[in-house]
Amino acid sequence: MTKKELFFTPGPGALHPEMPSFMNDALRLNIGSLSHRSKTFESLFDDTSAGLKELLGAPDDMQMFLLGSATEAMERIIQNCCARRSFHFVNGAFSQRFLETAQELGRETDVVKSPEGSAFDFVNAQIPTEAELICATHNETSTGVMIDLEALAALKKKHPKKLLALDVVSSAPYGDIPWDAVDAAFFSVQKCFGLPAGLGVLFVNDFCLEKSSDILRAGQSVGSYHNFPTLYSFAQKHQTPETPNVLGLYLLSRVVADYQKRGRKSINEALASRAAQIYEFLEKHASLAPFVKDRRARSATVITVETSDASALLKRLSADGIHLGSGYGKLKDQQVRIANFPVHSDEEIERLSSALS
Ligand SMILES: *Cc1c(COP(=O)(O)O)cnc(C)c1O
Repeated sequence: MTKKELFFTPGPGALHPEMPSFMNDALRLNIGSLSHRSKTFESLFDDTSAGLKELLGAPDDMQMFLLGSATEAMERIIQNCCARRSFHFVNGAFSQRFLETAQELGRETDVVKSPEGSAFDFVNAQIPTEAELICATHNETSTGVMIDLEALAALKKKHPKKLLALDVVSSAPYGDIPWDAVDAAFFSVQKCFGLPAGLGVLFVNDFCLEKSSDILRAGQSVGSYHNFPTLYSFAQKHQTPETPNVLGLYLLSRVVADYQKRGRKSINEALASRAAQIYEFLEKHASLAPFVKDRRARSATVITVETSDASALLKRLSADGIHLGSGYGKLKDQQVRIANFPVHSDEEIERLSSALS
């Protein structure tokens, strides 16, 4: 019998173990032909939004918008939450993408960069008065650095008039998002939610909606069908402006229901303890080591590993049916990445550890 193929890739990642049955249900229920103007769709939208808010601890009055991807969420946030100037914390490829999105949309930008693999000094960060929006990435998937959300929230409280947008793509539902400081948060479904790609989810509060209306009133574009006022008016009816990824939404609703049953606290604990185990294993390993040296900056969900020959390691493991992520950019030859997501089981992690031994 051939062994099950295991995916520890950070995105797209492993599918939720129940995905075949969720997909079968979707076919049986004709989800692919469900009208996005029907009552059934409206309930699906509403239930998923309520379930996600409960899971993530988000306030009830936040709005859920459905987009095509997390990268789209970055563009929509810049268009709708920032007329002229944005501020960015950049420590890898995804936070850099957020910065470049703002630049490509003609915004002035200020940036604090942190060397790859190290944390930010949020306490001493200087943010210009003119910045309207602060952009941060909870988990920089390219380098395996997870930021300190409490420190970020404390920084935001020093700038109450600015909006804070948080990329939680490769962390949520892991972690505790400080919603009293966060105005917008987004993820896509192919990382920690174990779905096929093709759906982005963005939560925004009233301050984001007001900002968007202000920009529009001042005569500046906030985008077309996916601008916040349009998304909001449809979300009021539990709908979307366009025909959305209804299948993705259905599958998400099933995974969210499963995660709600487990609860965020227990997911947090399970992933944190598994990550600690993996880092300990790497520290003792003869030829592998954690890339992130500062323990407080180490990600629980994407573990970056130093190795002398990344491609040989990836090849050897994949011959064994185990797929890891390659390193990113200039770190490609000396690094591999291991996803530690809620869809993984302890047995799978054990199979990985013994293959790495
Ligand atoms: C994967 C990822 C993205 C991009 O997600 P898409 O769904 O491909 O747009 C953005 N930010 C982070 C941190 C990611 O890991």
